[in-house]
Amino acid sequence: MGSNGRAATDRRGSGGWETVLEAERTLEPGTEWHSELYRVAVDQFRRAADLLGLEEEIRARLLEPRRALVVNFPVRLDDGEVQSFTGYRVQHTLTMGPMKGGFRYGPGVSLGECAALAMWMTFKCALVGLPFGGAKGGVRCDPNRLSDGELEHVTRRYASEIFPIIGPDRDIAAPDIATGEREMAWFMDTYSQQVGHPVPEIVTGKPLVLGGTEGRDIATGLGVVFCVEELMETAGEQLDAQRVVVQGLGNVGGTVVRELAQRGATIVGVSDVTGGIVDPDGLDAAAVEAWMAEHRFVRDFPGGKPVSRLEVLEQPCDILIPAAVEQQITGENAGRIDARWVVEGANGPTTPEGDEILAARGIEVLPDVLANAGGVTVSYFEWVQDQQKLAWQGAEVAARLRIQLDDAFARVRNAREQRDTDWRTAAQAVAIERVADASRLRTIYP
Ligand code: NAD
Repeated sequence: MGSNGRAATDRRGSGGWETVLEAERTLEPGTEWHSELYRVAVDQFRRAADLLGLEEEIRARLLEPRRALVVNFPVRLDDGEVQSFTGYRVQHTLTMGPMKGGFRYGPGVSLGECAALAMWMTFKCALVGLPFGGAKGGVRCDPNRLSDGELEHVTRRYASEIFPIIGPDRDIAAPDIATGEREMAWFMDTYSQQVGHPVPEIVTGKPLVLGGTEGRDIATGLGVVFCVEELMETAGEQLDAQRVVVQGLGNVGGTVVRELAQRGATIVGVSDVTGGIVDPDGLDAAAVEAWMAEHRFVRDFPGGKPVSRLEVLEQPCDILIPAAVEQQITGENAGRIDARWVVEGANGPTTPEGDEILAARGIEVLPDVLANAGGVTVSYFEWVQDQQKLAWQGAEVAARLRIQLDDAFARVRNAREQRDTDWRTAAQAVAIERVADASRLRTIYP
């Protein structure tokens, strides 16, 4: 008998069909999204769903994305050769409103990775109270090996390939790893060309002159810093007494370093894809920023001691902020993390095995769905301004961001106390409860 319960002999005596049915065994739910990151997202979801006692029906609906589009498209490179690229767009839930999520470029981008990231986007939006479901996308490529012209062609072709499932009221894109204002401008222009009029609200994180908002460029990093401030207040500690390590010096990490240094924290380690530098007495954050602006990578920075990409995570500090890529704190290195708090600027930087070890060692982890929610919050502000043809001042954006994040932080802090759990499970529980409520109210169509 196959695992789907059908007796092989129902279809044909012994022999031939039986073998076929063995091969037709019902696949496990979630098989399509199989990836290390999806495993992490599911593990986190299950912990929070168990805590909530979430009914099976809602669990099943939230465990897998609602839709996914996989595209393969050709791009002519500068040397005249044609290369085929694979791109994805995954939409996790349509229950909460239009879908919202960034797109990234990287050699490891996959359907499963986008599925995990789309699920986290749903919970991030729900936690902050934004009227969006989660989405995520990307193109598998090495952006460091593509010229500006090639990247433009990849972006434009990707936008037109996923055109059937996106729209300003359906699915709104945003920046993520290796994509920024420039790619958002190309994306917005491509979509607008297809429909025949400008549609700035198809994407957030655009340049100001195209309908972007003040403050979006620093929003994710600033949100991380607001959460660090709330965390310090909760712990009864002073921010200017903390030693901080930041992994990643891109949009998120670069802003975190600048903003925390301005608030008096001591930056004792930083890193990017080329490696890290540490100095227990404190690095000159402004000098690091100027070096990055001129040399693009931190390698060869004249100051501090050079260390490897992973060694920087083990540098003694109070607050460790992974703000680069996923799966950096794992069962392998969590035992050597020498920090009091981990604040996740990146999405999914800690694996469940890493989480367990950190918890056993009394190291608190402020999770991604809360700590890096500043980006999507200001993206929401941008979308609202685009739709109403408004332009808020930077100070207004920052003030609104502070209100929204402080509120989310307070809800997570309360849930953590009331449910006697960790920050991550509390944050996911608050978010899942909100999405589950909406799902119950909308019931099942038809
Ligand atoms: P980015 O491309 O601007 O920067 C990434 C940085 O990480 C670069 O400095 C790169 O050199 C470094 N890096 C890459 N691999 C590394 C490694 N193995 N070790 C150390 N450093 C490494 O990307 P970003 O927009 O800053 O995004 C960083 C993280 O934050 C991602 O997980 C992303 O999903 C998340 N995030 C970004 C936003 C946003 O608004 N940009 C919003 C929410 C979450």
